Amino acid sequence: MKRTVLSLCLAACFAAVPVSLQAQDAGKALGGLFQNLLKPNQGGGGGLGLSLGGNNNAANAGNAVDLVGLLSQSLEQIDEPKEIEIGRQLSAVLLGAKPLHKDVALQRYVNRLGRWISLQSARPDLPWTFAVLDDTGFNAFAAPGGYIFITKGLVDAVADESELAGILAHEIHHVVGKHHLKAMRKTAQAGLLTKAIASQFSNNVQGMVSAQLLALGKDLYSKGLDQEDELDADRSGVALAARAGFDPYGLVAVLQQLRTAKPDNPVFTLTLSTHPATQVRLDQLEAAMGQRLDALAGQPSPSIPQRLARNAGR
Ligand SMILES: [Zn+2]
Repeated sequence: MKRTVLSLCLAACFAAVPVSLQAQDAGKALGGLFQNLLKPNQGGGGGLGLSLGGNNNAANAGNAVDLVGLLSQSLEQIDEPKEIEIGRQLSAVLLGAKPLHKDVALQRYVNRLGRWISLQSARPDLPWTFAVLDDTGFNAFAAPGGYIFITKGLVDAVADESELAGILAHEIHHVVGKHHLKAMRKTAQAGLLTKAIASQFSNNVQGMVSAQLLALGKDLYSKGLDQEDELDADRSGVALAARAGFDPYGLVAVLQQLRTAKPDNPVFTLTLSTHPATQVRLDQLEAAMGQRLDALAGQPSPSIPQRLARNAGR
């Protein structure tokens, strides 16, 4: 079986590695926590494309056309199983570029926290999956269908659980609002995807499929989403975190920290370049929140190491 080596960096901070090899190894190392995520073509989407480590080149070639065709359709035509399948494939690309962090207790905690918040969202029934990537940068990514990734650098940077909850709620709202699907459709409709693929063209059929997914992923995660969607995710994220019982000012505190980050600090470069100016985000949040959520503010929130120590003691 031939494994495809990805030659394209997904974003500035991601190194090129073989997708199939690393994603499967990471799943094994974590005791099957992410088996669902890494299983090829499960969940009803039905053969949209790349199966991890798969060797069915003929099927992949046909499905590659489907992916672009699918994204050219209206949002209503992309049903939930298809949305989940697109997200699963994009997640495989993300996981191929950066491995999962090996701390199983941390992964379980972030999953539990994320799932609790997602249950308060408008789409509680998606197969929500949360994971920590082994990366020192400060980044969070979401993919359609309920896949959310945060970096270990972000976990280390937040002061407490309410800040982490605010970030997860922001990402959850991107999924609820189908913001990534919208952005990918824009790319597909503008014909940019075809161009991107042509420049990555490989005479290896599986390589072509990977190039297509990578082109989508690169466009999505390096350019970022629509700026209005980002501000929407801030506002709705704050409301969602509050509904889940967390201090609504958690996300505000993260943004205040980001505001003081130097744009040339490589830890923050990607986050700052893909989001609206931090002061604009803070101003918009202040206007939206007013004093309405102040009664919910100021609840004690443990730091992440404190929370993990408490969980271990149970
Ligand atoms: Zn965002």
